[in-house]
Amino acid sequence: MAMRVPESAWRPSEPEYLNCIRCGLCLAVCPTYREYLSETASPRGRVALARKSLEGELALSPNLAEQMYACFDCLACNEICPVGIRPADLAVEMRSVQEQLRPSGWKERLFKGLVPQPGRMELATWPLRVYERLGLRRLVYALGLAKWLPPQLRDLEAMLPHLPQRPLRPALPEVTPAQGESLRRVGFFLGCAQSLMFAEESAATLRVLARNGCTVITPRETVCCGMPALSYGRADLVRQQARHNIQLFEQAQVETIITDCATCGSTLKDYGGILAEDPAWAARAAAFAAKVRDVSEFLLTIPLEKPTGCIEGRVTYHDPCHLRRGQGVWQQPRRLLSMIDGLEFVELPEADWCCGSAGSQLITHYETSSRVLQRKTDHIASTGADFVASGCPGCQMQLIAGVKRQGLPVQVVHPIALLDRAYGPTPQGKKGGA
Ligand code: SF4
Ligand code: SF4
Repeated sequence: MAMRVPESAWRPSEPEYLNCIRCGLCLAVCPTYREYLSETASPRGRVALARKSLEGELALSPNLAEQMYACFDCLACNEICPVGIRPADLAVEMRSVQEQLRPSGWKERLFKGLVPQPGRMELATWPLRVYERLGLRRLVYALGLAKWLPPQLRDLEAMLPHLPQRPLRPALPEVTPAQGESLRRVGFFLGCAQSLMFAEESAATLRVLARNGCTVITPRETVCCGMPALSYGRADLVRQQARHNIQLFEQAQVETIITDCATCGSTLKDYGGILAEDPAWAARAAAFAAKVRDVSEFLLTIPLEKPTGCIEGRVTYHDPCHLRRGQGVWQQPRRLLSMIDGLEFVELPEADWCCGSAGSQLITHYETSSRVLQRKTDHIASTGADFVASGCPGCQMQLIAGVKRQGLPVQVVHPIALLDRAYGPTPQGKKGGA
């Protein structure tokens, strides 16, 4: 049975579409097209499929929906499109249409059920903590058992960072005082993946902020920023999450809202658009979005203490798509890394190409994700870097899997964690913040 799509769904206009057919500029920047060299795996192909489907010429078949889910949402096509079509947004819109019409597969259902709820995520990752804490993980590697796992499971295991003993969210004080005089009161949006997987890095972010005169308010009841729900076409859930988070930060009365997760940052900055049609929330959402800053972006707007410590080694930097294209932030992390004595910065070839993470692609689209990651890892190897920095937990996990798979002696790290390391212990001689 052919499925009907809602009339309200956005679609390119006739002149836009005619220009699109003759163009093809985005094919050169699309990672899925580069892997398959097939028009249907390209932004232009997805635009054509979406349009035909939205206009009722083509049924919304599983294959068509699959092309929309296969998109990495890397935003490269949105950025380059001279016509303003925004193919990446159209692919997400099509997922929303498909979500209304057809239930998705078990992997997506599991992902959707877990990700929006911090409590459920904490519970679901508990066995992984036990695995790490009991030394089972060390044993698996010591006995060489990892190499007997099927490739996808091996990569998924490898992408886990060294898990913190417990998530950061319940451990974090709601108020982290500034060291010395408090010069500004800022909010901190702690992302779910940061709390669960990279707790030490977000604790480092808080130390760096406090060290630079910030009193930091971290509302503990924040929920997921909404990006996972958005990628699985649950626009209703995203709006619900946005309202909840906006209300919390309004109560916190902060001048700026900072995050150290690129994906969270790009979603939070989009709350104005997400709630634009809601008269009761549009203005509040726009005010919230205007306050959001990535931590690297924020730090370069204040008088920043120069780190006095020295880190010997070479560092390269991978641009998270949702930081570089989603927020236009790419110079700031590089500048912060260049402030650290002893650290030689070397540019990564194709630094702004997607690493293949895209949230859950290593789970849902393993083959493509894995091939895209291989290219990224080859580039990292070519730099001879000791560190690869990136300010997104999804990218970090993907890069960890890549360097492990290739046996590279490279540490994957958040740029602010390196800055924190260069600062050394806090003036009081103890860890500040968390
Ligand atoms: S860049 Fe834009 S107009 Fe050109 S082919 Fe891609 S989607 Fe179509
Ligand atoms: S968002 Fe990235 S993967 Fe998706 S169509 Fe655009 S360029 Fe290709």
